[in-house]
Amino acid sequence: MKKTIYYGIRDIRVEEVPDTAPGPGEVKVKIKYCGICGSDLHEYLHGPFPESPFGHEACGNIVAVGLGAEGYKIGDRVCTLMAGAYAEAIVCPTERLLKIPDNMDWKRAAVLEPLSGAAYAIERGHVTPADTVFIAGAGTVGLMLLLGLKAMGVQTIYMTDVLENRRKMAEALGATLVWNPAEIKSPAKIKELTKGRGVDVAIEAVGIEATLKDCLASARYQGMVIVQGIFTERAAVHMLGFVTRETTMIGTNFINPALAMKWLETGTIRPESIITDIIPLADIASKGFEVLAGKSKTAIKILVEP
Ligand SMILES: [Zn+2]
Repeated sequence: MKKTIYYGIRDIRVEEVPDTAPGPGEVKVKIKYCGICGSDLHEYLHGPFPESPFGHEACGNIVAVGLGAEGYKIGDRVCTLMAGAYAEAIVCPTERLLKIPDNMDWKRAAVLEPLSGAAYAIERGHVTPADTVFIAGAGTVGLMLLLGLKAMGVQTIYMTDVLENRRKMAEALGATLVWNPAEIKSPAKIKELTKGRGVDVAIEAVGIEATLKDCLASARYQGMVIVQGIFTERAAVHMLGFVTRETTMIGTNFINPALAMKWLETGTIRPESIITDIIPLADIASKGFEVLAGKSKTAIKILVEP
């Protein structure tokens, strides 16, 4: 079968690898889609993480079941929440599987994993429906946060992004107000919008100093800053405001697939609308990673279809 092998920075190759059968407690899944995640793009551009997540946003049909893989059968539709899925198939332990309801569209299932990151962050940050929220960044992370917040009933969500297509997407998906942080200073804008108070929760969804500063300066007294962006550089932040405003700041880097699935099954949100491109496995570098690396004016979520 064909699988994408990571060789190094900007060097991934689709190669023929031996087919493997599922062992005890495992199933083999034929991949329908695997989404390209921002964390994978970081690995592509900057080098691998210690526990590489490369290719972890996949869904497909079970084609073989190992011994003791209780509750799963051939043909079942599942999300495989583990790395290594930029491939025609993946062998996955059952504890990493999540069943997809029969009537759920594949594209909707394909964004379950990024939505679960938002679900985890929102829960970990104890966000409530009454909170006013600012999300810095309208890439996949920010947009999934927006939809998660909407699913739980948050009414006021401000967002920023420097890219116009992402701002438009945020507006289309129901953000209260969206602006370009390169043109409008976010902390001042937030002050104006909240009558000087600041937002209850500010979420960093980019992974750079400028947006972290915007979040810290936009949260109210005793407010919450949630950091979900992946940082490759150090960030110099002004700690005096952090201390005097008694800010709580947390990092989040995990998923809550059960909550995300609940939103997908019961809610009206349409996270699949962030999918802008579906590309063949053979083109994963040229039409996938290189497009995202070039800060594409159109691409947001790209799915690989092996
Ligand atoms: Zn991901």
